[in-house]
Amino acid sequence: MATQTVKIASSTEVAEVKHFIDGQYVDGAQGSYFVTNNPATNEPVGEVAEGHAADIDRAVQAARRTFVEGPWRTMKTKERAEVLRRIADGIDAHTEEIARLETLDTGLPISQTLKAQIPRSADNFRFFAEMSTHMDGETYPVDGEFLNYTIRQPVGVAGLITPWNTPFMLETWKIAPCLAAGNTCVLKPAEWSPLSASKLGEIFMEAGVPDGVFNVVNGFGETAGAALVAHPEVNLISFTGETTTGQEIMRNGAATLKRYSLELGGKSPMLVFPDADLDRALDAAVFGIFSLNGERCTASSRLFVQQDIHDEFVARLTERARNVRVGEPFEDDTEVGPLIHPDHLERVMSYVEIGRQEGATVAAGGGRPPGLEAGNYLEPTVLTNVSNSMRVAQEEIFGPVLCVIPFETEEEAVQLANDVRYGLAAYIWTGNVARAHRVARALESGKVWVNSQNVRELRAPFGGVKDSGTGREGGHYSFEFYTELKNVCVAMGEHRIPRLGAKPRTGGAGPGAGSDA
Ligand code: NAD
Repeated sequence: MATQTVKIASSTEVAEVKHFIDGQYVDGAQGSYFVTNNPATNEPVGEVAEGHAADIDRAVQAARRTFVEGPWRTMKTKERAEVLRRIADGIDAHTEEIARLETLDTGLPISQTLKAQIPRSADNFRFFAEMSTHMDGETYPVDGEFLNYTIRQPVGVAGLITPWNTPFMLETWKIAPCLAAGNTCVLKPAEWSPLSASKLGEIFMEAGVPDGVFNVVNGFGETAGAALVAHPEVNLISFTGETTTGQEIMRNGAATLKRYSLELGGKSPMLVFPDADLDRALDAAVFGIFSLNGERCTASSRLFVQQDIHDEFVARLTERARNVRVGEPFEDDTEVGPLIHPDHLERVMSYVEIGRQEGATVAAGGGRPPGLEAGNYLEPTVLTNVSNSMRVAQEEIFGPVLCVIPFETEEEAVQLANDVRYGLAAYIWTGNVARAHRVARALESGKVWVNSQNVRELRAPFGGVKDSGTGREGGHYSFEFYTELKNVCVAMGEHRIPRLGAKPRTGGAGPGAGSDA
């Protein structure tokens, strides 16, 4: 078995990352590489094979051949589920190594990758393995004359395109249901965070996944990603990333009429009413924006606080923000690590400046934390005196920057919360049950958490409305996306079939009459 070196024992070691195609770790057709850096130092940690259209084609052909020939598609569901459970065991066995790779590549604190992201990735496989064995269909008996029923079948070759925030978790969130349903796939991981995905090939081989079922092609979005989307042998695209990229992907795949699931950007509101448990609301507000370095699609980046409690709540909030421990992501007590890339840091910082120019007050943070000169660090930042029409309140910043906006009434809170192009998640903090349900109904959002932080339930649908995406994944919604629904109608007796052409024709020209022959 061809292997690759993805050992990161010391900060000076540079991993060699290849594509994984048809059960082999392989170099790219053009032989070019790109570098991935450690966000804490901006030193290289990986040399990554750069994929182009030829590599995508090779991977798609392998996935197509395997899909058609089997045995993955034709295997008994229970056997396939067993293989997926072995993948979960493989992830468990390598949790520490994968968590280290993830932290090294993304800057996410090790406490979060080790205890949350990587174990959750193993759960994704166990969960969808189990669900696949419960997939059912409907029957429509028609008066004892017909039996009309549905079956679900795999769609074919899936293209899975993922972003750099929590990469391993998001990749497995797609791969697990995709493969559980019997499809084959090509994964194109984000170019800023390819390291952890490179472990998957090894784990899949150990688990006994047949060659060609799972393929990884590294590379950039405009080349490798676009080639995957445009490939005529790819039946569906599951994409998570920016809204503008999702729009481009829809355009690019239109000619080959693909099925899409698009999980896109967000600018999620948190509404805090005076009747809420304000201590818990404060914890949730701080966690909701600063966990995962603020690089969370469902981050509660717009905080609406009722006017009567605004000043005190914001005073406590800014104190907590200043207290958040920013530091080296491998330190156990680090709560916020460096942002993924210098370009991203620059973009996030530019929003702090835009906020200042728009008249917002930087109430906490706003700059590089003292003593952390090398990496892409930014202090947890709170902007106050924000109005909802400002760019900082309308555009996704995707970093540890919180906008606080006061409101007077429930109606105003809902109106402000909905006055944005995104609609991924929303959070409500109130002690009033009727208000909780009323506001949950009124918010334009795919997901609403009430008196709760961002707790995910794998059975529940996940996805956005408005510019936050199309489609839902999670639980049986994932299987709806990753399967074709076929309707079969069987006649159980001799129903009437209109007998066209059965009556002898009288007069006129019969068949062949008048022909030249
Ligand atoms: P991005 O859109 O820049 O890139 C995502 C992926 O798409 C990468 O693998 C990239 O290489 C690829 N890509 C880029 N251009 C492409 C093209 N033309 N054709 C095909 N593929 C292309 O996003 P990002 O910066 O990596 O991630 C951050 C974004 O992801 C944020 O907007 C965030 O909200 C969003 N996100 C959404 C969810 C969700 O569930 N809704 C979850 C996580 C992240």
